[in-house]
Amino acid sequence: EAVFDRIASVEEKVGAYLSRIRERALERARVIDEQIRKGEKILPLSGIPVAIKDNMCTDGITTTAGSKILANFVPPYSATVVKKLDAAGAVMVGKTNLDEFAMGSSTENSAFFTTRNPWDTSRVPGGSSGGSAAAVAAGEAVCSLGSDTGGSIRLPASFCGVVGMKPTYGAVSRFGLIAYASSLDQIGPFTRDVTDCALMLNIICGHDPLDSTSADFQAPDYTQFLINDVRGMKIGVPEEYMAEGIAPEVHGLIRKALELLESLGANVEYTTLPHTEYALPTYYLIAPAEASSNLARYDGVRYGLRAEDSEDIIDMFMKTRSQGFGSEVKRRIMLGTYALSAGYYDAYYLKALKVRTLIKEDFDRAFEKYDLLVSPVSPTTAFRIGEKTDDPLQMYLSDVCTISVNLAGIPGMSVPCGFAGGLPVGLQLMGRHFNEGTLLRAAYTFE
Ligand code: GLN
Repeated sequence: EAVFDRIASVEEKVGAYLSRIRERALERARVIDEQIRKGEKILPLSGIPVAIKDNMCTDGITTTAGSKILANFVPPYSATVVKKLDAAGAVMVGKTNLDEFAMGSSTENSAFFTTRNPWDTSRVPGGSSGGSAAAVAAGEAVCSLGSDTGGSIRLPASFCGVVGMKPTYGAVSRFGLIAYASSLDQIGPFTRDVTDCALMLNIICGHDPLDSTSADFQAPDYTQFLINDVRGMKIGVPEEYMAEGIAPEVHGLIRKALELLESLGANVEYTTLPHTEYALPTYYLIAPAEASSNLARYDGVRYGLRAEDSEDIIDMFMKTRSQGFGSEVKRRIMLGTYALSAGYYDAYYLKALKVRTLIKEDFDRAFEKYDLLVSPVSPTTAFRIGEKTDDPLQMYLSDVCTISVNLAGIPGMSVPCGFAGGLPVGLQLMGRHFNEGTLLRAAYTFE
C-alpha cells in the first residue's frame, strides 16, 4: 500500500509504469501476510514490491515491449525470472516503460510516452530500461528487473542514481524475455543498494532448461561477497574509457572513486583494451542484424496488431509492420537486413563477428592481470529530453562505455559514485565471466 501511495503521488511526474496491477498485487500481499501470520516460512522476498520491464512476459498481464505492435498482447505464460520472483514471495506491482523493443538509450523511443528522470524531470532516465530505473529511484518499487543488450540496465542505473547489474551472459534465463539481440540480451536487477542487488541475484541466477543459452552453473550465495574489504584487489582502468569525450565532472568523480578504492588497499593501475574504438560499429551491426531476424515474427498473423483492410497477405504484412513499428525499430530492421543480405554478409556481419572476438580477447588478456576493470558508465550525466532524438548517432554514442561488456558476455555493474550538477554519476565495474561476486565486493565499498 505504501508503494501504491507513493505511485499515486509521483507517477504523474515520472511516468515509470506502462501498467499497474494494484488489486492483484494487494490481494497477493494479503495472502503472503496471512501465510506469515500462520507461521509459514518467510521467503527471501516475501511481500517485496517489484516492478518488471515490459519486455518480460507476464501470464495474463499485457506485455507490450513498448511497441504499438504488441499494445494488446497478453502472454499465456510468464518469463522464468518472473516465476522465480513469484516463488520467492515478491509482489509484482506493474510493468515499466522502455524504448520500443529495448532499442534506445533514453526511453524516448517508447511508443507510449517518455519516462522522466526523478532527479530532474526535464531530463531522460536513460534507457532502454528507463521505467525500471526511475521506478526504483522514485520509490515506486523496492526493486525492479531490466534487460541489458548494450547498456540498458547500467545506463539508466547511472542516470537515476541506483544500482544496476548486467550479469554474465547465460547466468540468468532469457526464457520469456522478448528478444532484441539474442546473443547480447541479459536480464538483471535495479536496486537501491548493493545488498539488495545480491539478494535479487540469489533469486534470478541459475540454469534454466527452457533457455538453450542458459549456463549450467552453481550460482553462489551472492551475499557472501558483501564483506567490506577490497585489500589486494587488482583493478585495471582501461585508458580508452577515460579518454576525450568523458565530461570533466564525470572524469573527476571516477578518479575520486578510484582513489577511495586505492586508499582501502586495492591496487589500481591504468591499462588498455585496444579494440575499444571498434565496439560501437561492431555492436550496431550485430544488434540490428539479430533484431531484424527476431522481429520477423511480428507479421500480424501469430499475435499482436493486425492491420485492417488489406488486399492480400503480403499487403497485410506490410501494413501491419508499417503501422506497428516505430521509426527506430524500422531503422534497425533495415540496417540489420542489409548487413545480413547476400553479398554484404561477409563484408559486414561476418566482419563484425570477427571484431567481436578481438574485443572479447582484449578482456581475456586484461583479466589475466586484473580482478576487475573500472570505468565510467556514461560519458555524461542524464541529458535533456529531446536533446538527441533527431540524431540517432548521438544517441548511439551514449553506449560507448557499456556495449563492449555485452559483446564479451562478461558481467557489468553500475554503482552510484557521486553527483555532478545535482545529477547522479555511475561507476562501471566489469569482471570475469561468472564473477559477479567480485563486482559486488568492490561495489559494496560505495554502499
Ligand atoms: N542503446 C543500445 C541500443 O539501442 C542498448 C539498448 C539495450 O541495452 N537494450 O541498442
